[in-house]
Amino acid sequence: MDFAQSISEKVEGKRQSYIHISDEIWNYAETKYTEHKSSEILASKLEEEGFKVERSVGGIPTAFTATFGSGFPVVAILGEYDALFHLSQEKSKTEWSPVVPEGNGHGCGHNLLGTASLAAAITIKEILEEETLSGTVRYYGCPAEEGGGGKGYMVKAGLFADVDAAITWHPSTQNGVMSFRMLATSQHYFTFKGKSSHAGVTPHLGRSALDAMQLMNVGANYLREHLIQDTRLHYAITNTGGNSANVVQSEAQVLYKLRGPNLTVVNDMLERVQNIAKGAALMTGCEVIHSFDAGSSDITLNQTLEKVMNESFIQLGVPIFNSKEQDFAAEIRKTFTQEEMVSKGEKSLADTILPYSFDVGIVHGSSDVGDVSWIVPTVQCRTACFALDTPFHTWQVVSQGTTSIAHKGMLHAAKVMGLTAVELLLHPETVIEAKEEHQKKLAKTPYISPIPDTSALPKEVVSIV
Ligand SMILES: [Zn+2]
Repeated sequence: MDFAQSISEKVEGKRQSYIHISDEIWNYAETKYTEHKSSEILASKLEEEGFKVERSVGGIPTAFTATFGSGFPVVAILGEYDALFHLSQEKSKTEWSPVVPEGNGHGCGHNLLGTASLAAAITIKEILEEETLSGTVRYYGCPAEEGGGGKGYMVKAGLFADVDAAITWHPSTQNGVMSFRMLATSQHYFTFKGKSSHAGVTPHLGRSALDAMQLMNVGANYLREHLIQDTRLHYAITNTGGNSANVVQSEAQVLYKLRGPNLTVVNDMLERVQNIAKGAALMTGCEVIHSFDAGSSDITLNQTLEKVMNESFIQLGVPIFNSKEQDFAAEIRKTFTQEEMVSKGEKSLADTILPYSFDVGIVHGSSDVGDVSWIVPTVQCRTACFALDTPFHTWQVVSQGTTSIAHKGMLHAAKVMGLTAVELLLHPETVIEAKEEHQKKLAKTPYISPIPDTSALPKEVVSIV
């Protein structure tokens, strides 16, 4: 049985319905924890295909699971569908052109991500039935990857307790297995409270929360020199205390995002940042309140699963683009700066698989796939959905998200994930090997949840209940 061939045919057979779902999610452009229509279109499709769907899992309204089959191995396919704020953009345009000013957009291609994972899950189900194989496939509808860390809450709720292996992907400009680590991250609000007063007549009676917040930022910027290279320290001022210069600002707030190679490093950094905040409050006679916002773990890799996925990718080859698609990608590339154009040569779209080698280092972003990767052996691939060098979280990604280039990359990812899962169902001994590799790592480095024990639900969810 040529499973690569049969999986390709199954995915292509339903291509129109997959493209429709992906384009609809692109249109909805729902941001973290508000992905009601996006999660529903995916959940109802899986239900229609014979999966047992559980909605609002872990108490999160836009999280769901869809299960088919029974017994070992339980293979999870992770899907995301959240958009980003302020990235509204017309489709298939080679210039910046928002549909809705300050509207939202799929700047990370998660419309493709959730849909390819859906297509993979449906295809695996069809093979399980045809071949009467033992095993379970479960789609995980994961909200709020962007700035919400939804998967960490799903892990904390025990939703992955019976899973043996997890498979996912990310839309990209390249083809290949993603054998790189990403940074752990933790995001925190620091709210300063002082005392308002007339800034001209009675300044001595006021205590400036704005001063405190600025002093905290100065302190944190001095901290940078004394951090290891792979850390990142970002902040956004979320409340300046108002627009009146003649009022001593009684409240101010700043949001800090800390990143590091693992949560131990991040938590150490957090303690130092907290001390800086306390110092700033002490200097200004203000009070500081600290609250957790979101976080995710670093990604831990699994070589056993990666080898299976790499083999599957090689069998399936790469998405093939026509000259019209090449021309469109070339036009998009004209909007990049010289600095953004890192790939050499004349090509506008990737046409090879990046050679596989295990653990090529750290990419200094973060993903909540990290939390799943510490609970179950996890593997990810990427496929070419966008012109080479397209920077993420930009209008160019949004613009390309409904093109035939993106659709081809998406369907290809479904095939690679599908074949990887089928290989695991056919060879359960490989799953056992992957789990042993995972256990060995965990024995040395236990998993730390990025979420404090006091938070069972994301604050966005708590606020609407
Ligand atoms: Zn993303």
